[in-house]
Amino acid sequence: MMTEPTQTRMRISRLDRTLITAIVLLSSVFPVELFSNTPPPPMGFDGQYSGKQGQVLLVKVKGEEQATEVKGKFLSRTIPFFREFRPGEPVGYLGLLGIDMQDEPGTYELVVEVNQGEQAKRLSFNVLVTKEKFSVEHLTLPKDKVDLDEKAAARWKAEQEQVKQALAEDSRLKLWRSNFLEPVNGKRTGIFGSVRVMNGKPRNPHNGEDISAPIGTDVATTNDGVVRLTVDHVFSGRGVFVDHGLGFYTMYFHLSEILVKDGDLVKAGQIIGKVGATGRATGPHLHWGVKLNGARVNPYSILDLPLKNGLTSAATISTPDPEPTPVQKVVPVKE
Ligand SMILES: [Zn+2]
Repeated sequence: MMTEPTQTRMRISRLDRTLITAIVLLSSVFPVELFSNTPPPPMGFDGQYSGKQGQVLLVKVKGEEQATEVKGKFLSRTIPFFREFRPGEPVGYLGLLGIDMQDEPGTYELVVEVNQGEQAKRLSFNVLVTKEKFSVEHLTLPKDKVDLDEKAAARWKAEQEQVKQALAEDSRLKLWRSNFLEPVNGKRTGIFGSVRVMNGKPRNPHNGEDISAPIGTDVATTNDGVVRLTVDHVFSGRGVFVDHGLGFYTMYFHLSEILVKDGDLVKAGQIIGKVGATGRATGPHLHWGVKLNGARVNPYSILDLPLKNGLTSAATISTPDPEPTPVQKVVPVKE
């Protein structure tokens, strides 16, 4: 009877020594960056994700019931996590990680900080970014639409600044729901990320998807949000920027008509404008763009996310959302 507890104690103390040695070794290999009391786990310790350039990944952190804040760091971008609540399932947090269309292929670390009052935990995931095959698009446009004169260049610069300012402060509330909609019933051109050669000169890659549809076709917002900015810009023409919260923005360009104002609250499927060919456009189409915590991603990758009805954000949304919006199809206006 006496020998057993002694043996257990000895075993524990041997285990303690091994653990201490391991921790000391680990902290010398992986310098402590965030929290002095716990050594960070080795890179990728908590799991692995992979995706192509321009893709959106759904990252899950399970079982952190008491967390006050969960946020991720990936490359130089901050990813706010939101609470996942599904009846009968353990509580967890989700984050939408956008891989920018120009992120270099390779393996990067996603660090997730789980804060609980004074305490904090650090999780480490590996994210393998793989190459997407983007097409090369040759365009011939009137010279004045490609090469800006001094006046137009100054206007373009001011417009860039206006957009930057408007999108600088992310809405802290998660406004979107789990169903995302295609904004226009039209033909996808599949040119997201394509390298554009205009009048023989390579330009910035195409940072959205173009959907061709006749002039006047209804354009709906993909999800709930706030209209952050409406513009009439030299390249994007008449455009609408919708803030869906937590650093998630969608853009709708080349509209013939805008039907919303800055600051308007919009619901998924709400008609916010009409297809046009304003700005730099070769014909009527909707340019649909998505920016996710600064990453330019393929808008269609948000439609493919495995988000299901019943997903809400109890921690970040002020009012519960008991009835998810049903998937709606936007009926195009016939010519
Ligand atoms: Zn476009």
